[in-house]
Amino acid sequence: MKIYLNDGLVDSAEAKVSVFDHGLLYGDGIFEGIRLYDGCVFKLDAHLERLEYSAKAIMLKMPWTRQQISEAVCETCRANNLKDGYIRLLVTRGEGSLGLSIQNCKQPQLIIIADTIQLYPEEFYENGLSIITVPTRRCNPAALPPTVKSLNYLNNILAKIEAQHLGYHEAIMLNDQGYVAECTGDNVFVIHKGELITPSASAGALKGITRDTALEIADELGVPWREANMTRYDVWVADELFLTGTAAEIVPIVEVDARPIGSGKPGAITGRFLESFRRRVSVEGTML
Ligand code: PMP
Repeated sequence: MKIYLNDGLVDSAEAKVSVFDHGLLYGDGIFEGIRLYDGCVFKLDAHLERLEYSAKAIMLKMPWTRQQISEAVCETCRANNLKDGYIRLLVTRGEGSLGLSIQNCKQPQLIIIADTIQLYPEEFYENGLSIITVPTRRCNPAALPPTVKSLNYLNNILAKIEAQHLGYHEAIMLNDQGYVAECTGDNVFVIHKGELITPSASAGALKGITRDTALEIADELGVPWREANMTRYDVWVADELFLTGTAAEIVPIVEVDARPIGSGKPGAITGRFLESFRRRVSVEGTML
């Protein structure tokens, strides 16, 4: 496998970073997860824009232009003969010293890994997924804004451990006020009385690229949508519920905290969102 490291491709065995890299020492860096569908990178520009915003938020100056990173992403996919897959793009603060200060971190590191993807089984899309709410709260945006897609995912990992410990694949995380923020690696949407509702970024949600696509689809389908604070009650009494994410796409949820959602089967509106999403990924994207 070929990995893109800073200024070109190297064999995966040679793709190494320093143990003094602040990405490793402190989770000091940012990343993107991107999909390749049939030789086209889905929403590449939107991912690179979010990467730039994350970099700005953590005061990490990237020495590459968006065009350079975009070409590097495509080059990595081509070098690995991929037509469909998952791209992990990381920018770390780079090699520094043991202290927290970033003053010695002179050179950010760019790493691009393109590989095949382990998808959720089709059964999850046909029958829906059961999830729970876990005790670990989503980081307060005033402490570490969840809108920054940072390399520090410990908050999400703790929630994922709690979910898996109880036999679930995904879990709802509440924010410190008790409102629904998002899942460990996906955004949450409720459909109630024909309206689509999702938590805002200020409630602790990542501005997901798939979330944005779902909102575009809502406009296309004529489904009214809004961002709002949601309690667990709003989730429990929803007519339909779905999650969005680059890897998961659009997954119907049929049970939350042992309460069936709607009829306990994937909802009809969710089905139309998934259909539209799958049509979009087959016709949109940056060709390799
Ligand atoms: N929330 C979190 C915490 C995530 O890590 C992700 C990405 N896996 C998402 C939401 C979904 O974002 P996107 O649609 O951009 O993949």
